[in-house]
Amino acid sequence: MDAMILEAPGRPLRRVALSDPQPGAGQLRIRVSACGVCRTDLHVVDGELPHPRLPIIPGHEIVGRVDAVGPGVPASRIGERVGVPWLGHTCGVCPYCQGGQENLCDDPGFTGYTLNGGYATAAVADARHAFALGEEGDDISLAPLLCAGLIGWRALSIAGRGKRLGLYGFGAAAHIIAQVARWQGRTVFAFTRPGDAASAAFARSLGAAWAGGSDEAPPEPLDAAILFAPVGALVPVALRAVRKGGRVVCAGIHMSDIPSFPYSLLWEERQIVSVANLTRQDGLDFLAVAPQVGIVTKTTTYPLGDANRALDDLRAGRFDGAAVLVPDPPDQSGGQ
Ligand SMILES: [Zn+2]
Ligand SMILES: [Zn+2]
Repeated sequence: MDAMILEAPGRPLRRVALSDPQPGAGQLRIRVSACGVCRTDLHVVDGELPHPRLPIIPGHEIVGRVDAVGPGVPASRIGERVGVPWLGHTCGVCPYCQGGQENLCDDPGFTGYTLNGGYATAAVADARHAFALGEEGDDISLAPLLCAGLIGWRALSIAGRGKRLGLYGFGAAAHIIAQVARWQGRTVFAFTRPGDAASAAFARSLGAAWAGGSDEAPPEPLDAAILFAPVGALVPVALRAVRKGGRVVCAGIHMSDIPSFPYSLLWEERQIVSVANLTRQDGLDFLAVAPQVGIVTKTTTYPLGDANRALDDLRAGRFDGAAVLVPDPPDQSGGQ
């Protein structure tokens, strides 16, 4: 198979030809047809997340078809279209797994971080953590749902039921969750990088009632705010924007330091919470809701071999929506 591997943080991914991985007990192998590029991949590549398994194949928004199964996995799964998310393995026996919080598992495996991911033409995955995707929708459009959609969904659930919802950072996750929130009857306020008129217009095109810079106050107090931007300075900004009893949800895995702020911003039962990973139930719930919402993902595709360019473009904010890697067309494959 072809794969893009990270050998050390801070270095570009390198393209390599490897023998196809063999599925072990409880695993299946997927012929990858699309893999989304998530901001978490940038945090891994840039060395902002500690102790990745190295070398590692990044990528945790995998869509493809099962072409082999290991012992204990029914052969009937061969041919199934599946999606593999960030939480690639859980132990099943720790207090968190036993208590319905497998997202906090003590011995987890994370796709594209501690388990090889989908920046490749093939991947193996824990069969219990590979979601059946059915046959509706095309592979490229579905890929961003596997993390941007799924983590966004968990963040939206944790934000509570408040009607006026602020989204800070209008990238892959926000562009999906804005559609879900609108479908739920909420009013969406989108906060983009100051001066980024294109992202603000993109947010309005997806139903945001208001869009402006993150340095602006919303026209009315928010019931909740979700921070998708990995910018700690936005925590006090968002606290200032929510009403009494309002909640600020930090949805990213990594964030720059949060500056000190007066206690008065937190007073009156405002809350700050983080969202870590996902549970399989989150995935099942979200993948059931997504077709009802009629989510339209905006994607920019890159050939697998251009993964470094996709990551650079994400870092620089050069596209709206989500980047998706696709295996090179057959007439270009085999090159290095
Ligand atoms: Zn566990
Ligand atoms: Zn992700």
